[in-house]
Amino acid sequence: MTDTSKTNLLGMTPAQLAGYFQDIGEKPFRATQVLKWMHQLGAESFDEMTNISKSLREKLNAQAEIRGPEIVSQDISKDGTRKWVIRVDGGSCVETVLIPEGDRGTLCVSSQVGCSLNCSFCSTGKQGFNRNLSAAEIIGQVRIAIKSFGAMSPANKRVVTNVVMMGMGEPLMNFERVVSAMHLMMEDNAYGLSKRRVTLSTAGVVPAMDKLGDVIDVSMAVSLHAPNDELRDVLVPINKRYPIKELMAACHRYLAKLDDKRVITIEYTMMAGVNDLPEHAKQLAKLLKTLPCKLNIIPFNPFPNSGYERPKAEAIEHFKNTMHKAGIRTTVRRTRGEEIDAACGQLVGMVEDRTRRTAKLIPVVQQVTPHSPAARH
Ligand code: SAH
Repeated sequence: MTDTSKTNLLGMTPAQLAGYFQDIGEKPFRATQVLKWMHQLGAESFDEMTNISKSLREKLNAQAEIRGPEIVSQDISKDGTRKWVIRVDGGSCVETVLIPEGDRGTLCVSSQVGCSLNCSFCSTGKQGFNRNLSAAEIIGQVRIAIKSFGAMSPANKRVVTNVVMMGMGEPLMNFERVVSAMHLMMEDNAYGLSKRRVTLSTAGVVPAMDKLGDVIDVSMAVSLHAPNDELRDVLVPINKRYPIKELMAACHRYLAKLDDKRVITIEYTMMAGVNDLPEHAKQLAKLLKTLPCKLNIIPFNPFPNSGYERPKAEAIEHFKNTMHKAGIRTTVRRTRGEEIDAACGQLVGMVEDRTRRTAKLIPVVQQVTPHSPAARH
């Protein structure tokens, strides 16, 4: 059982932690010490904190705790991809994936138990939604990944060089906690990742994109998946609230707030006969022409009863070439960790659905026709 009377320090930002120590009548530098112990040295208890007096350790033991999520299982795929199933408070599980590539290690972190957005091709969405993760549960995933390589030494910390908020959930629907956790990822006394190496991915929650640019400076990925509103309304239902034109304007506003030159990553999960046709490529090239961006094509990763298929390699190649000719930097994401179900859109965890979506048995393939209608604009 969790002891809810204790204050969990794990998800606190440096400022919050300084406030906490002030409140209990201690000096602010204690916050920095404890921060380093938790995030740089991986301490699980105050007793390990040898540069803190015994009396303060006892005080902390009585009223505070360091509590992250727990590992249920760890799978390692042939290509080195690791997937953890992680139990969070209340018994639900989320998934975290580490993708090593050369001297980089990209950690794909979850922000919610399930997801409320119900994108038609995403298995997380099909699970329904349970709740937001706490900042401790989000940053705890980073700690778990690093600690799985042994002691939290500087060498082991390099196993995670990049974090992408691309696991389960829509990070911008869990704004405050995700922002706190991302602050910790970039904090020198915690994980010290550069702002270019922390990326938030969103399906396009426009007002929250604007708010994000006001409070933190991370890189942004946008899950576009369709070049026109008719098709995007079906694939990414939040498009009905914030259509493509508004989403593109929000991307421009976000980039304008950054103090360096960066681009938005546009994600485009590609499904055979749905959004992979030459006309889609032409529409997309036109749409992205004026946005500083790079396009990342994600060939659809299948899951049971998805109703969609991955396009043939030639269709992807043709699409990519059209984008290149239009001057848009385009990469095709190599599928990683497939045999352990760790690829994009395959993360399901164990979600007790509160939206009753899973009970409704919505036909998975909705109104998607092989030839999507022309752009509305
Ligand atoms: N909700 C956020 C974060 C999730 S990121 C967002 O939408 O951006 C996960 C990425 O994988 C998104 O781009 C998502 O659209 C994509 N994805 C979901 N299901 C997929 C599938 N079955 N195959 C390939 N990509 C998928």
